[in-house]
Amino acid sequence: MVQKYFLTYDGMHKLVSASSQKLKEFGPDIIVAIGGGGFIPSRIARTFLSVPMLSVSVKLYDEDDGLMEQIQVNQWFSDEAAKIFKGKKVLIVDEVDDTRTTLAYVVNRMLEYEPSEVATFVLHNKLKKKNAELPEGVTSFVGMDIPDVWIVYPWESNNIDDHNAHAQDNDKVLESLSSQTEGHTKD
Ligand code: 5GP
Repeated sequence: MVQKYFLTYDGMHKLVSASSQKLKEFGPDIIVAIGGGGFIPSRIARTFLSVPMLSVSVKLYDEDDGLMEQIQVNQWFSDEAAKIFKGKKVLIVDEVDDTRTTLAYVVNRMLEYEPSEVATFVLHNKLKKKNAELPEGVTSFVGMDIPDVWIVYPWESNNIDDHNAHAQDNDKVLESLSSQTEGHTKD
């Protein structure tokens, strides 16, 4: 059975809250949410940071042959709108750093607008080999490092009570993954 980690709305709020002091110290002028998964974490971050929140919408998908992964951009800033970023500190928010492809894409495009500084914030960073790196000088803030497991976010759920019930097994899932990894290391 595929193991899944279920994040609750409360758990998500607490992850953002626990990172909020560091995010405040970075002191962004603007938050940029990467939709769809970054919308709700960004909105919670905005409660702590009290700065404007803008958004882009991108999707990572496999091409038909399944060999390449490409970014599909569903919504982006016009050149005129992007002038707002020049000289500003920008915090880019997504829900998860999996292969890092999405974050690297958004950060690199943001740097073209000449912000003074860019940082990223994700709820979860999966501890795995990444397909891309973030440029030097970009700070990464992470709510929680997590083994390479599929995370189910609460907004994906059709039944939030079932979702929250599954979340009670999260510690067991993490324990089981860590014992599998340990077993693997000994091989
Ligand atoms: P990337 O591989 O570029 O770091 O992540 C691309 C996107 O894949 C994420 O923004 C997210 O929408 C989706 N994704 C990756 N891992 C997970 C996961 O464990 N759970 C969910 N729900 N989405 C994920």
